[in-house]
Amino acid sequence: MKAPAKSSGSSSPAVSIPAPSAAADPGRTPGEREGLDLFALLAEHEHEQVSAYYDPSTGYRGIIAIHSTVLGPALGGTRFWSYPNDTAALVDCLRLARGMTYKAAVAGLNLGGGKSVIIGDNRTTRREALFRAHGRHVESLKGRYITAEDVGTSTGDMEYIKAETNHVTGLIGTSGDPSPVTAYGVYRGMKACVRYRSGSDSLAGKLIALQGCGSVGYHLAKLLRADGADIICTDIDPQRVKRVVEECGAKAVASDAIYDVRAAIFAPCALGAVINDATVPRLQVEIVAGAANNQLAQDRHGDLLERRGITYAPDYVINGGGLINVNAELHGWAPERARSKAGEIYDTLLRVFEIAREEGIPSHQAADRLAEQRIAAIATVRRNFV
Ligand code: NAD
Repeated sequence: MKAPAKSSGSSSPAVSIPAPSAAADPGRTPGEREGLDLFALLAEHEHEQVSAYYDPSTGYRGIIAIHSTVLGPALGGTRFWSYPNDTAALVDCLRLARGMTYKAAVAGLNLGGGKSVIIGDNRTTRREALFRAHGRHVESLKGRYITAEDVGTSTGDMEYIKAETNHVTGLIGTSGDPSPVTAYGVYRGMKACVRYRSGSDSLAGKLIALQGCGSVGYHLAKLLRADGADIICTDIDPQRVKRVVEECGAKAVASDAIYDVRAAIFAPCALGAVINDATVPRLQVEIVAGAANNQLAQDRHGDLLERRGITYAPDYVINGGGLINVNAELHGWAPERARSKAGEIYDTLLRVFEIAREEGIPSHQAADRLAEQRIAAIATVRRNFV
């Protein structure tokens, strides 16, 4: 299994289409590989299955990608997006499904990785028939894939899907807003980072530079404040900054200035790709640890952090609380159990850092190793007929 794209981000979908790997299909000549080479794309990262479904009455065009069901049914949200072409939609779906496998594996959940995309304008008001068509598509896979919300879809859309299948989560009145659980996981992850660097996991008196005071950022700020940390925050929405300043005693800075703050931790809780060529040289922190998906613009930026001596908490490890919350809904866990599971992110991160040290690799690669080790171990133990 090859390293994944990072996590199941809610950032804009990727539209780059990698050339199918010749190594994935050495038996064919370059001429024979022209056009969409579906099975080369699947082989490249060992995807199990892709399903495409068309409903002429609604114009529904949907793709479901199942990357791995080694650990359990493939779970991942439904993204509704206007892709430039069908290949871009397929590649995005495959990339996101693979990220879900890794996220579930390191979170210690018995879930595989999958994702679905609906191709079209997500502002449409004709949603019921469209999402019921999607629900029928999900149902046709008989539980191998479970869906949830993602970019362009809402809890209301999940209700339409539910009319056609039980393999859907994120419904109205169920697990609810995942942000408090995500924030708790990030908070515990920050403590693990501090412990890794200093031997003590106390955040008291530490300065945290918080980028994004939205759902997760706000709950995180409250936890940090309760633990005696100091906060410098920013957001493009002044009301959200005001709330954190007033309720958590934070100081505010302008959006771009957050990268220059001398602090113990930089906590990206807004956008993806904020760790990039322009920002890495500016950072004056010991640790990067936050909730945002796809924080590294490219994998090499994880290497750059490492070279600068900055400890990076891989995003899909530290922000796993959202997925843990969905898992809690699936299995009927009490909220305390979900929170406790998110708290285990502390130990998982320490294990990631240990692998990084043992193998001399950056933490983002060590996280991939940890996920792959668990998947391989479970695949082996389940190889016999029982
Ligand atoms: P949110 O939309 O509630 O909050 C994001 C905040 O970032 C908003 O307040 C927005 O104004 C602010 N923002 C946008 N651009 C900014 C900029 N340039 N500078 C500063 N602030 C900016 O989202 P959220 O649910 O809090 O999620 C935050 C991040 O964490 C996202 O990347 C999301 O994908 C990821 N994440 C969230 C969860 C969850 O449970 N909500 C789970 C896993 C990952």
